Amino acid sequence: MTTVSELIQPRELIGDTGLRPHSPLTRAVHGHRQSRRPHPHHALTTPIVQTATYTFKNSADLCAFMEAKMWGNDPEMAERGEYGRYGNPTVRSVEKRLATLEEGDDALLFPTGMAAITNVLLSILPAGAHVIFTDDCYRKTRQFCNSFLRRFGIETSQVPVGDYAALEQAIQANTRLIISESPTNPYLRVVDLERLADIAHRHRVKTLIDATFATPINVRPLQFGIDLVIHSATKYLSGHNDIMAGVAVGEAGLIHALRQSQGMLGGVLDPHAAALLERGLKTLALRVRQQNQTTQSIASYLETHPKIEQVWYPGLSSHPDYAIAQAQMSGFGGVVSFTIKPIAGETPLATTSRFIDAVTIPLIAPSLGGVESLIEQPALMSYYELSTEERLAIGVRDNLVRLAVGIEDENDILTDLEQALAQI
Ligand SMILES: *Cc1c(COP(=O)(O)O)cnc(C)c1O
Repeated sequence: MTTVSELIQPRELIGDTGLRPHSPLTRAVHGHRQSRRPHPHHALTTPIVQTATYTFKNSADLCAFMEAKMWGNDPEMAERGEYGRYGNPTVRSVEKRLATLEEGDDALLFPTGMAAITNVLLSILPAGAHVIFTDDCYRKTRQFCNSFLRRFGIETSQVPVGDYAALEQAIQANTRLIISESPTNPYLRVVDLERLADIAHRHRVKTLIDATFATPINVRPLQFGIDLVIHSATKYLSGHNDIMAGVAVGEAGLIHALRQSQGMLGGVLDPHAAALLERGLKTLALRVRQQNQTTQSIASYLETHPKIEQVWYPGLSSHPDYAIAQAQMSGFGGVVSFTIKPIAGETPLATTSRFIDAVTIPLIAPSLGGVESLIEQPALMSYYELSTEERLAIGVRDNLVRLAVGIEDENDILTDLEQALAQI
């Protein structure tokens, strides 16, 4: 028989003792909650504080707040609301939950993933700095560095992902930042984070990892010495294809500095979107575990199919980064990329489009990480304006397919892929 004290025991663990030692599964549900102090009106969920500005009781109250902000002697007072662009309690609550999940000091939310990336780069790079990024990086990040930041005298170098000698060689006296992703898009390359951080730190260079494809359930890059982690929270973190958001997680001083510049640059997350993100985070671990498992099965199935040319998934022993993925990640994510074998008398572009059109469960759309499976042919989706030759130069083959697996039944997706492959 269960005794009363046994019933009380687990409550103590998730109550006043804090949640840091718990698994990501528990942290995703309970967030940063350090005590059982209730929310206003004893609400279990975080209230949506829909306000543009905040009031002060009187001038003395205002002065006490300004003093607390200046001297940092009263953190609780300093965190109270002032004006919407400088912070919102709903957004703040989700930031703390994300910091806990990534095992970072603090986090800062943005209205999109790109807002997180551009805000970070605009804030931390001085004029004339040099940035290194790995190829197979999110295309808009590369474009921002190569075209937009160039106007401020910022130089860039691109090195092949996985070539650590080239990475070290690319470091110059003015190099300030190394940007990479892990896993990358679309070939799911996995970066040896410890090795990357070690090279960067030896040269006093900061590191930024876009870990959108990994999620904190599969890998937490700060644990490996990375300085800053970024996510497009539009993808797995919110998980339902219904909001856009971005987040940066890292050391407290760095996040504080980013918060200061966010107050100037002005890109803040809406509290409604923050509430939907928090709701998504509560099921993050369940969704990602399911997506890991289903995608592993799909990748293995595709690899044996006679109409498939090649499959890229870090959970397959054929993937170039299988070993580092095994050592570094606890799951390999919900995206699998593959090429369709060319057929005589038809362009690979056309055969691949016919396959995609024959699939019925995954929807044709950009993005990933939501509950619905999405499928796309990168040659038509993100690289349409390029010629076949230009696409090949950046590694995007005409017969490449990217499947972002949702949480539908594994057998249903496998059966669907089988019937679609039978039609080509
Ligand atoms: C989607 C995505 C982004 C951009 O995020 P948005 O929320 O669309 O602005 C950046 N990096 C990666 C890896 C992405 O998948």
